[in-house]
Amino acid sequence: MALIVHKYGGTSMGSTDRIRNVAKRVAKWARAGHQMVVVPSAMSGETNRLLGLAKDLSPASITPEAMRELDMIAATGEQVSVGLLALALQAEGLDAVSYTGWQVPVATDSSYTKARIESIDDARVRADLSAGKVVVITGFQGVDEDMNITTLGRGGSDTSAVAIAAAMKADECLIYTDVDGVYTTDPRIVPEARRLHTISFEEMLEMASLGSKVLQIRSVEFAGKYRVPLRVLSSFTPWDIDINEEAKSGTLITFEEDEKMEQAVVSGIAFNRDEAKVTLLGVPDKPGIAFQILGPVADANIDVDVIIQNVSQEGKTDFSFTVHRNDYQRTMELLEKTVGPAVQAAKVLGDARICKVSIVGIGMRSHVGIASKMFRSLSEEGINIQMITTSEIKTSVVIDEKYMELAVRTLHRAFELDQAPAA
Ligand code: ADP
Ligand code: ASP
Ligand code: MG
Repeated sequence: MALIVHKYGGTSMGSTDRIRNVAKRVAKWARAGHQMVVVPSAMSGETNRLLGLAKDLSPASITPEAMRELDMIAATGEQVSVGLLALALQAEGLDAVSYTGWQVPVATDSSYTKARIESIDDARVRADLSAGKVVVITGFQGVDEDMNITTLGRGGSDTSAVAIAAAMKADECLIYTDVDGVYTTDPRIVPEARRLHTISFEEMLEMASLGSKVLQIRSVEFAGKYRVPLRVLSSFTPWDIDINEEAKSGTLITFEEDEKMEQAVVSGIAFNRDEAKVTLLGVPDKPGIAFQILGPVADANIDVDVIIQNVSQEGKTDFSFTVHRNDYQRTMELLEKTVGPAVQAAKVLGDARICKVSIVGIGMRSHVGIASKMFRSLSEEGINIQMITTSEIKTSVVIDEKYMELAVRTLHRAFELDQAPAA
């Protein structure tokens, strides 16, 4: 008998028929003798709907007080899901009980809309499991030390599931979604994308941080820190397929490099449309300038991603960086009103129509010429690169948003990701 955590995403929970299917699948696992904890997301579209309602009524500039209410509202989507799923499980003849984050409790910090899980008290859940119950716990939410409801950021149910699996030392955490695993890139953009049987933890971490929303990055971080066996698989296979076959399907996140993984220089391509670029032209090139610009940005709780400072000409330089698109207006205001004048910038420019495209692979450590192959392939398509950033196992470029799909397809082909690696 094993302790297994299942997570079901929004599409998998998208209608009462689908919820019934989830219940039948979970029942199959429970009847095979496993202790089951299930973490569902809100029904598809529900979180967007709730946040849309909130937006209609919220003040123009979101205050900390308003952020608290956003979480109060958004967390209800998952509450409906757990109740419905527990009902469906009971209808399957199982003993099932549902809990919201605060009932467990899943303790988080107080950063509304992007809270971090601090600890999980599993006593209540363990007692239920010992009593033979299936326990259904909301994804995406927790509670801070003042009993305020918090949420973990979009896609946060993945993190809830992995964190619960880590806290309970579960034997495996299975992330059921609307694709049958992790692909070389988003199969909705590149139909030739291939499913990976395994992906290394480090590559998955990069893919998630660079925009592949198949797993929220923090879920991968948790899996790495606590060595949670993690698998991504489809919730759309018939629920009654053989359980052993199902247990081996999808993509396994691995923690040890094997020889096969070494062969693929580039394993995947990620992209992200959620960023915007800002530039300060003609700032004095002197010590402390980066701090004078980025200090106030950090103080305003705005995360900065790619940063570029150009070589100086006559003591002046241009300084560009990217921020999340949601923070774009705030950043522009800050630069135009305070930072720009303070550092005597000649001009402040902004562009929200950019995207970041990245190639990822642990093989890049031991191969040269990968980045230049990337740049050549993009130039052959006439795609201009605005910014470049690299790390040991990834290279990212910032380009005009309108070329995003072309760039992803071009790179997918250039690195032969549509072809099965040599055996
Ligand atoms: P869920 O609601 O189950 O959490 P998400 O929409 O958050 O599902 O994540 C699954 C989606 O991630 C897929 O439908 C796919 O479009 C997208 N995706 C992006 N990159 C990848 C990738 N490399 N492999 C698989 N899916 C990907
Ligand atoms: N329902 C939340 C969202 O839409 C969390 C999740 O689905 O993982 O972002
Ligand atoms: Mg998701």
